[in-house]
Amino acid sequence: MRTPYYREQALEGIAREVITAYDPNLYYGVPRMIPIEDIIEAQGITLEYQCLRKTGCVLGETVFDDGGAIIYDYDIPGYTVIAVKGGTILIDSSLCREDASTGRLRFTCAHELAHWLLHKRLYSGTGESAAMMTGTNIVRTQNSALEMQANLLGSILLMPLPQVKRCFYQLQPGRDRQQLVADMADIFQVSKQAMRIRLENHHLL
Ligand SMILES: [Zn+2]
Repeated sequence: MRTPYYREQALEGIAREVITAYDPNLYYGVPRMIPIEDIIEAQGITLEYQCLRKTGCVLGETVFDDGGAIIYDYDIPGYTVIAVKGGTILIDSSLCREDASTGRLRFTCAHELAHWLLHKRLYSGTGESAAMMTGTNIVRTQNSALEMQANLLGSILLMPLPQVKRCFYQLQPGRDRQQLVADMADIFQVSKQAMRIRLENHHLL
């Protein structure tokens, strides 16, 4: 399987296309939260919330071809296979609990959309799916280059660079570093850590 590699600038271009096709104001207007779940559905992808693993070790899974997906069914209780259509993103229902972080749910959605945008051709017809694992499983069980690209495009989709810059220069006066990161994370509805990394990578912090 040949791994396509996209430079960050190419990924920014993909994000711009996807976001502006949904609503150009999200990209050129006042910086705001990117409605990632709505954008996924506007791409014709079905979003489904299921208990993917009892342990929560799989947070999301992109299904490229019609087939089956493993879920945990509390009624059995046990694992079962459900029929899933190609073009489905499964999100672990644990991320939807009230005590779960919005940033984590949104990042998982964005990461899976990134797989769909970048790796559809790669996985299509193989019967494989791209699953987002927590912790170190990611390195062992998945092609880590693909995961890194999905992580990067995921963060770009939630924090498009022109909007991050616009917001940064608007909010910077009178705020210390910590307050700036917190306020920007709040505007974009991402974790503070994700926002800090995005700013640092572009030498804004
Ligand atoms: Zn992944």
